Amino acid sequence: MIQLCASATIKGHKIHYPRTGATVIPPALLLSYRSVIWLVLIAICVAAHPTASDAEPPISVVATTSIIADTARSIAGPFATVIALMGPGIDPHLYKASPGDLRTLSSASLILHNGLHLEGKMAEALQKLSSRKTVVAVTAEIPRGKLRAISINSEVYDPHVWFDVSLWIACAQTIRDALIRHDPSHATDYSNRFSALATELQQLDTWTRAQISSIPANNRVLITAHDAFGYFGRAYGIEVLAIQGVSTESEASLRSINELVQTIVRRKIPAIFIENTISPKAVEALVEGAKAHGHTVMIGGQLLSDSLGDHGTPEGSYSGTVKHNVLTITKALAGAVPGGAT
Ligand code: ZN
Repeated sequence: MIQLCASATIKGHKIHYPRTGATVIPPALLLSYRSVIWLVLIAICVAAHPTASDAEPPISVVATTSIIADTARSIAGPFATVIALMGPGIDPHLYKASPGDLRTLSSASLILHNGLHLEGKMAEALQKLSSRKTVVAVTAEIPRGKLRAISINSEVYDPHVWFDVSLWIACAQTIRDALIRHDPSHATDYSNRFSALATELQQLDTWTRAQISSIPANNRVLITAHDAFGYFGRAYGIEVLAIQGVSTESEASLRSINELVQTIVRRKIPAIFIENTISPKAVEALVEGAKAHGHTVMIGGQLLSDSLGDHGTPEGSYSGTVKHNVLTITKALAGAVPGGAT
């Protein structure tokens, strides 16, 4: 043992300690000290490094929309990297995969998309990828009877299932199952994380119903740019009218604008809503049209329809987006908003 004194003798070597307290080690002992240091470093590295099985990199998941990506991240936790192709404000109905997107998709080990033709212009690319990749439509396990057909006897369904929170829990379950199939070594983790998310979403579902029911019955009409809130209206008891249909691929027609103006004026609707993924022009035309008929209808706010809000804000998460929409709708239509958030 080296003693903290002016000098000491070890194995016959005189060791001097300068005033700074630094140890001067004779060359003959240097090798053995270095060996010890190396052994200690190696031991630290071995202890700090994961074992071979833990060192596996997280699986890579690519989701088409920000909504799917956020839910996948909640379930996957640290065991997967999740990339969203479409960021905030992007309209999935019109989105075309770029060459860069195709490279990102090709490098993924698991691809998640909404299905039900939400990503209408990516259908061919996803179809091709499915021959060599695991491609999962998160809406695939929803019983067809719970989907909204766009017309009677139609087998084309409204893709905006995420605004019925209970249906989105079913989609989250499909995401969990896809992760487990793809990475069974973390099955318990995925199951536990899904259970926590499902509990949170069930509370969100209950809160949403209570909020919407606080809107006076006459005001309980949600008018938006495109028909993204049909499941929301069905689940939470609010009538939904929109200028465009369930897709934004066709232009807003003058006829549908005129019809909605008549409805707004006749029913004295106090507020209508713009959306974050669609130009506000058609909704503004409703405001002007109603004004020309002597009725003032205000724009009640911007709803987050086909994408989440900005990264780093509360609206950048699925539950934050739902809360934002519910509070915006409730406030503009004169509902009570007790306590605001859940
Ligand atoms: Zn849409």
